[in-house]
Amino acid sequence: MKRITHRLFSTFFLIALLVLTIGVACYWYQIQPLLKNQATTTAVWWTLSLFGLMFLVLGGVLFSFLRFHRISQQHLFSIAYIDPLTGADNFNCMETHFRERVAILDGKVALVVLDICKFKVINEVHGSERGNKVLKEVARVLKENLQKNESFCRAAADRFELLLSYQDRAEFLQRMTQLTSRLRRECSDESEGLIVDVALGIYEITDMQEPFYIMLDRAHFALENAKSASLRKYQFYEEESRTRMIAERKIESLMENALKNREFEVYLQPKCDFKTGRLRGAEALVRWNHEQGIVRPDDFIPVFEKNGFILQLDMFIFEEVARLLQMWQQKGLKPVPLAVNFSRLHLNDDRFIPQIRRIAAKYQVPNHLLEVELTENVIFQNLQRAQSILGNFHLYGFSVAMDDFGAGYSSLNVLKNLHFDSIKLDKEFLNGFDSNPYAQNVIEGTVKMIKKLGVQVVAEGVETREQADFLHRIGCDIAQGYFFSRPLKAETFEQMLPK
Ligand code: C2E
Ligand code: CA
Ligand code: CA
Repeated sequence: MKRITHRLFSTFFLIALLVLTIGVACYWYQIQPLLKNQATTTAVWWTLSLFGLMFLVLGGVLFSFLRFHRISQQHLFSIAYIDPLTGADNFNCMETHFRERVAILDGKVALVVLDICKFKVINEVHGSERGNKVLKEVARVLKENLQKNESFCRAAADRFELLLSYQDRAEFLQRMTQLTSRLRRECSDESEGLIVDVALGIYEITDMQEPFYIMLDRAHFALENAKSASLRKYQFYEEESRTRMIAERKIESLMENALKNREFEVYLQPKCDFKTGRLRGAEALVRWNHEQGIVRPDDFIPVFEKNGFILQLDMFIFEEVARLLQMWQQKGLKPVPLAVNFSRLHLNDDRFIPQIRRIAAKYQVPNHLLEVELTENVIFQNLQRAQSILGNFHLYGFSVAMDDFGAGYSSLNVLKNLHFDSIKLDKEFLNGFDSNPYAQNVIEGTVKMIKKLGVQVVAEGVETREQADFLHRIGCDIAQGYFFSRPLKAETFEQMLPK
């Protein structure tokens, strides 16, 4: 609109000047015969001077107007499109010119979002002046790093967006590695303890019809993943991660109501004596009775571990188990010990043991009928804490099993320092034992060592007679696995209990 007004205005002035010039020319032509008279000549010269003056004034006005207009346009442009701190383009500029900028790039194009890690800390520890200097330095390096037709902007605070071209992923990742190293080298000040690390989220533009905000959202999604990654702080956007994230959000939106509506159900998988085949206990395994069918824990427990909901779910399962034990006792059945899985999150929760004791007391269940399963890697990570928790459980008469032994980084140190009532060999540990005599020796040696400590050995995931025979022969006490029984509904399991 402004541009049109400007054009109209200039055209109007030019036409006015033209008309004036033609007017002067015609006038000169008309009065030439009269110029013989002195008085007329003076009048003509006065008139012409007046015209000339008007001509100059008009020209001056036009010139000043155009100049003023250009300056104010530049000023407006810089307010609208330039980041005053770094002098780089701002988000507005990138957004407005996005499509034309993509169009002029050769090869594949990536939209990259760059974030300075812990920039808040830099501001707090070193002051905002220093923080500003870092931003300027980062902008300088980014600018110097640009190749033909590439662009970047400072979108907000410590966030930059770059439009870059590349040929293939490997080459692009190499470039990003070099860029992050250069930023670290040139923007940090190690003598002050100021380190500039950045995280990058990369979205490969494949469909130019996609709206800019969607592309940006995806680059941001990749950035969030990059920030939580421990090693490589730059990641490409992957559609599967987004699908997974959406599935996780769906689970999260349903979980509270599912707990209220008792959609989580306890299944019990029998543990049997290898020697006699008698029922010796069971492990409680949660199932989610969803309207679309039964969901296995591996699909939701990792989500609950991330958002902390597992603390509530585990206690719910524990309470269900205590309720079942009470019910069986009231029915005159002889209940067997039931084991409940507890997430690693409980280890740092001071309410863990008091809650367990309160629930056991509420249902008047003898503590020896309740067993706690803790996974090996949890214990390994918090050895001291685990030691104190184990001591407390034993003090109150609960049994504790180490779950998934042999699945991760088993440490003999754990066995040396912690006293478990039983150790559950992970099913992966047994994998391939029949074809690998070396594995057989390792399993046999491990079982012997555990038995020497006076700890019961439970073999998980026993699926075949060969496995069962082998495990029995090497001295395993208890078996759990599909060969003996699948996890059962509580009503079905109840029928296996001795009267
Ligand atoms: P886990 O504690 O190692 O439980 C054993 C898993 O192995 C169960 O899977 C069980 O169904 C499966 N399994 C049992 N026998 C066999 C077999 O012979 N072959 C094979 N291939 N698998 C067998 P499930 O029920 O899907 O549970 C998976 C994991 O979810 C559990 O592994 C446990 O870590 C976790 N989990 C289950 N319920 C709970 C719970 O209430 N709280 C917490 N925190 N974790 C739970
Ligand atoms: Ca378990
Ligand atoms: Ca296990």
